[in-house]
Amino acid sequence: MSMRQEDRYTAHDYYLIDELLEDDHLLARQAIRDWVKQSVSPIIEDYANKAECPTHLFKELAEIGAFGPSLPVEYGGGGMDEIAYGIIMQELERGDSGIRSMASVQGSLVMYPIFAFGTEEQKRKYLPKLGSGEFIGCFGLTEPNHGSNPGGMETTIRDDGDSLILNGAKMWITNSPVADIAVVWAKNEEGKIRGLIVEKDAPGFTAPEIHGKWSLRASITGELVFQDVRIPKTQLLPNVEGLKGPFSCLNKARYGIAWGAVGAALDCYDSALRYAKEREQFGRPLAGFQLTQKKLAEMITEITKAQLLVWRLGTLANKGKATPAQISMAKRNNVHMALEIAREARQIHGGMGITNEYPVMRHMMNLETVLTYEGTHDIHLLITGHDITGLSAFV
Ligand SMILES: Cc1cc2nc3c(=O)[nH]c(=O)nc-3n(C[C@H](O)[C@H](O)[C@H](O)COP(=O)(O)OP(=O)(O)OC[C@H]3O[C@@H](n4cnc5c(N)ncnc54)[C@H](O)[C@@H]3O)c2cc1C
Repeated sequence: MSMRQEDRYTAHDYYLIDELLEDDHLLARQAIRDWVKQSVSPIIEDYANKAECPTHLFKELAEIGAFGPSLPVEYGGGGMDEIAYGIIMQELERGDSGIRSMASVQGSLVMYPIFAFGTEEQKRKYLPKLGSGEFIGCFGLTEPNHGSNPGGMETTIRDDGDSLILNGAKMWITNSPVADIAVVWAKNEEGKIRGLIVEKDAPGFTAPEIHGKWSLRASITGELVFQDVRIPKTQLLPNVEGLKGPFSCLNKARYGIAWGAVGAALDCYDSALRYAKEREQFGRPLAGFQLTQKKLAEMITEITKAQLLVWRLGTLANKGKATPAQISMAKRNNVHMALEIAREARQIHGGMGITNEYPVMRHMMNLETVLTYEGTHDIHLLITGHDITGLSAFV
């Protein structure tokens, strides 16, 4: 059992960025903040400890509007803007990166491609069910032999009259063992990447769980294995071809992660600040020592910079002007910032910092995944490098 203390989180807004937000954003944030305190904080340490996914939260996440907040309401989304989407991800990740991942995958990696590239029939069939949490979805791009370089994928679809025959395997797929549908990316006979919707009961399709993760322990991860799986052609997403398909989904999700990581950082900072004020050594609070103040002052400086970065990114996204390279920069910066803050916060908590009485070590372990998935820290740096020099250093 967890020894987790009551969640006493208070948000920090050093530069009064809330003044830049609209009432809708603040209302949405408050609703998610309350929900996290009520439904996530009391259980998250236990689930993370047991390495179990709190699947009952899928329905609740749907109810609070965490799936596709910026997708149209008629297609199961929230009809809000990109800042609202970001801020919702931030509050979820304040609770746990795994809970935010459940929502990111469902909204940005499953609902979004069906919305953007699917037929009207596919949208009507799947989006309301995904939006309401009746269906859980997953997104299969990464393979055992192809992570950072998804263009090398080996999963194939072969034309067979009215059907396609799918073969191959995907690895590291969030939600896959509990998913009702998978959006899968595979190469056709011409070597072109196509997206298709695979239902869980398709013969030849299995989704075994990956065990032994020290990170994102409350999020379930698995494989997708396809052995001559026959898929009706009506399951193909008709309106996209090539890496543009998966990349545009990742772009949406990365944008949410850039916001989300700030939430994890805020939770670590908030816990460290409170602990440093309450814990005394040498006859005075830890917060009174210069070295502790250096850590805390640098944390809030970095958080404030990251908050401004995503706010600006959000205003660009609302105008349809946020470029993939700008999103890469924010994802990379903010996740790294959050991980560094988690490590410093862990130090401020001393020995207590390694326990589940405080959220810090869990955030720290989670952020190791967040640093790697949706484009690794180094790959995003290369994306910035490519963008500013015009030269690709990938290969
Ligand atoms: C918990 C978890 C959940 C995930 N969920 C999903 C999901 O739902 N769907 C999905 O499709 N994927 C998912 N992923 C996969 C994730 O996106 C990949 O792990 C990630 O893209 C990196 O791929 P890789 O692990 O194969 O590492 P690799 O690509 O093998 O990279 C290993 C290291 O080499 C570096 N590297 C690679 N190429 C270069 C280069 N050209 N130059 C310099 N350095 C390089 C990388 O930066 C990294 O540090 C998940 C991963 C995890 C851990």
